[in-house]
Amino acid sequence: ANAAVEQGMISTYSELIELDKKHFLHPTSPIKQQQEKGATFIFDKGEGIYLKDIHGNKVIDGLSSLWNVNIGHGREELGKAAMEQMARLGFSSCFATFSHEPAIRLAAKIAELTPEGLNTIFFTSGGSESNDTAFKLVRHYWKLQGKPEKKKIISRKRSYHGVAMGATSATGLKPFRDFTTSLAPDFYYVESTGAALRSFIESEGAETIAAFISEPIQGTGGVHLPPQNYFKEVREICDEYDILFIADEVITGFGRTGTYFGIEQFGVIPDLMSVAKGITSGYAPLGGVILSEKIHQDLIEKTEGLFMHGYTYSGHPVSCAVALKNIDIIERESLVENSRVMGEEMLKGFKWLQQEHSIVGEVRALGLMGAIEIVKNKQTAQRFDKPISPLIVEESMKYGLIHRGVIYEGADTLIFAPPLVISKEEIHKMINLLDKALTAVEKQLELE
Ligand code: PMP
Repeated sequence: ANAAVEQGMISTYSELIELDKKHFLHPTSPIKQQQEKGATFIFDKGEGIYLKDIHGNKVIDGLSSLWNVNIGHGREELGKAAMEQMARLGFSSCFATFSHEPAIRLAAKIAELTPEGLNTIFFTSGGSESNDTAFKLVRHYWKLQGKPEKKKIISRKRSYHGVAMGATSATGLKPFRDFTTSLAPDFYYVESTGAALRSFIESEGAETIAAFISEPIQGTGGVHLPPQNYFKEVREICDEYDILFIADEVITGFGRTGTYFGIEQFGVIPDLMSVAKGITSGYAPLGGVILSEKIHQDLIEKTEGLFMHGYTYSGHPVSCAVALKNIDIIERESLVENSRVMGEEMLKGFKWLQQEHSIVGEVRALGLMGAIEIVKNKQTAQRFDKPISPLIVEESMKYGLIHRGVIYEGADTLIFAPPLVISKEEIHKMINLLDKALTAVEKQLELE
């Protein structure tokens, strides 16, 4: 059926589908559908904004896979960086006082890119580990200040912070928490206004609260831009009550919104930032928590004995070498700027779709992170009785575009985050495919 099969590298397609069903429990997936219909795509290759499956079908990767393939697919330079690092030093420990050059260089490089004062990184393997680390770190920090009772973590409704135990407990989207029966204690969720945060702090008591965590733009929840002035208020409130502010930059970091970090769009500086995804554009697993100099200095001065937190792969040399090359490409190709410019083009396209289609309601984007609300009535923003976005996603797939529909907690939203290398022509192509998918679904709805 394709070159890889002919070369005997993999079995026949139907065999792969059966093996996938039997042996591979997929992450965040409709597992019944996987059993009934099999995997929708078995991807084999990537190039730029495109993915190809093992039959050679080519689709636009409208969400940069998991919001992470910022520099696009098929960059051989990253393969070369990984290979060279693996051949030289595939792994050595960063525990205790051991170190290696890729981790040191990457830590220093990131300090150059971050907002002022955020100059030290603790490495992890991904976003969930970064957030769990951030929660443990802020509690440890307050303990060192002689305030061990400052341990509650506040997050926002509709937020997503990952699936490790702490990250799940901080996630505002209830379906993720409902997956399990028992969560980590001391996590709370507030509405996205300064007033809600303030009143929560006052009712619980600031002396019990360690930190507030927020995505600069809520991603998984449906690409929600924060209310005007929100983060300025958050920063003021956190300062007033002596509460640390963690920006979860797992999606928004490394150029996604048109600035290096999403929080820069709102003119405030957090105390900690969680990063992952775009740090390597997904070519190798890596994440981190970036700390302010104040927190770092305090940890150094006040920690007695060992700093008791570390993952085997904290500072993995191959991932760090890949990240350095990835950042090199982001800079060399001005991808942060491209994200800003192409983001405006994408939003223009969304506005055109809004004029053309009766079911397109509010549209929004910041950089290459955008959303389209699906509505029954544009004037009242009333939704259909059933979610429509999954139908559109399925139609888009037939035309050669993959993206996501968000239906959590009453949403019916299409979300987009194409690779930052996307060109104007490719944006237009994406919008045209979407136009076809929307037309097809509108026809289906008329027939019902
Ligand atoms: N935080 C945010 C804002 C995310 O979007 C994600 C992943 N989508 C995570 C944390 C978790 O990252 P990971 O899946 O790498 O653990």
